[in-house]
Amino acid sequence: MYPLNPDRIYAHTALQPNPDAMARLHRFLGAMGRPESAVEWFAPADAVRVSSELAAWSPDKNGPDWKMRQPVVFTRFVTDGSKFADDPISKDLPEGVPLHQLNLVLGYMAPFILNHSRESDAKSGTVCWPSKFLSTVGGCSHGCVYCGSGRDGKALIINLNVQEYLDQVFRKIIDDTPWQRCFLMIGNGADMATLEPEYGLYEDFLNFLSQYEDRYVYFHTNGDNVDWIEKLTHKERLIGVWSLCSNEAAELLEPCAPSATSRIAAMAKLEQWGVPYRVKLKPILPVKNWRESYANLLRELLATCKPETLGFASVMWTPFERFERILDLDLLDPTFVEAGRAAKEAMKDNRHAPFPHEKRAELYRFMIQESRKHAPKLPLFISTESTEMWDELEGEIGQSARFFLCGCNPVQGPGPRYLKSEIKESNYRTNKEAVATGG
Ligand code: SF4
Repeated sequence: MYPLNPDRIYAHTALQPNPDAMARLHRFLGAMGRPESAVEWFAPADAVRVSSELAAWSPDKNGPDWKMRQPVVFTRFVTDGSKFADDPISKDLPEGVPLHQLNLVLGYMAPFILNHSRESDAKSGTVCWPSKFLSTVGGCSHGCVYCGSGRDGKALIINLNVQEYLDQVFRKIIDDTPWQRCFLMIGNGADMATLEPEYGLYEDFLNFLSQYEDRYVYFHTNGDNVDWIEKLTHKERLIGVWSLCSNEAAELLEPCAPSATSRIAAMAKLEQWGVPYRVKLKPILPVKNWRESYANLLRELLATCKPETLGFASVMWTPFERFERILDLDLLDPTFVEAGRAAKEAMKDNRHAPFPHEKRAELYRFMIQESRKHAPKLPLFISTESTEMWDELEGEIGQSARFFLCGCNPVQGPGPRYLKSEIKESNYRTNKEAVATGG
């Protein structure tokens, strides 16, 4: 796993009678080089204090010393379906307690989040696929500036009762969701692949899935920690999905993530082991020399690797007002900065902000043309883009907006191929219908 060096390590006392959880805890401690005496055990009644201490963790992030030092909290997934609101702790909280974090510290993680429902994508005009996202970890150590769990992250919160989770939570999800064949284990803003093999989640998850026909798990990473994959018992059930920035963009956006070159080397290992993977250039950041930077990235990627698909997603989900707070805009192509600034008001509620349609299309056209030079037949896609963007670029992309192969949708098995499912198409058509009917 990553070389975590947490300032503090907390663990919920509910883990103590659970041998499965304790074995995972000891593996984590061993990898971090910490004795069990380094663990600060907390009972539920102390969770408010723990949560407040986490909120106060605030190292100087302008220097190099904060990296990998986030506190770690080991807790247990509440598997009986009860919610934070049912917990006596929730009744008498002091003011200012960071509630989201307190929920996670106590193990109240949603069993799944239905992402990209037809209704929500129609509202934002986003083309993606409905999917139940799964999670057993909150927080991430990559520190990415565009991500809520990144630069402003306060802790890694890891649920250790994995067997209970699989038996009592995931079994029900899989039984209730026959249309979903591929599950994205994306965490609450977590990059869970970076915690393996000590966590041991994927080994157990894949073994569990092997009882079912045609079911798969995605790991979604912008890291390079993959050696744990080689010896998995059921790696035929695993599909990798990478987020990849150019080396120059990653330096600005992802201070603790490995370089693009290092991620590409990790993909090459999956190639050797016969594990399929897909790549999204995401988020594409128009640094000053973006054409050269991304042309180099695509050359390196496609000379070394054969991903199943390759997709593109501009920086998005970031209103210009926030964008100018988190980045030094002098480092970007000024035509993008000007266009983003000019569109600031018009796009303030637009999910595809900060850059207007024309500038994002300029990025995608370039990526498509460069990719085709190296891999003329590779299926390409744009990820979570607008209906209008698909209308404009569908021909150049070479896939249908309704039926495109992509990175992490719920029905596209290894191959890549679509599996038989009630979900037959993306949200493109329903987005169009919503506009036509004023819905
Ligand atoms: S890769 Fe496909 S399913 Fe995954 S976020 Fe992008 S469009 Fe949606």
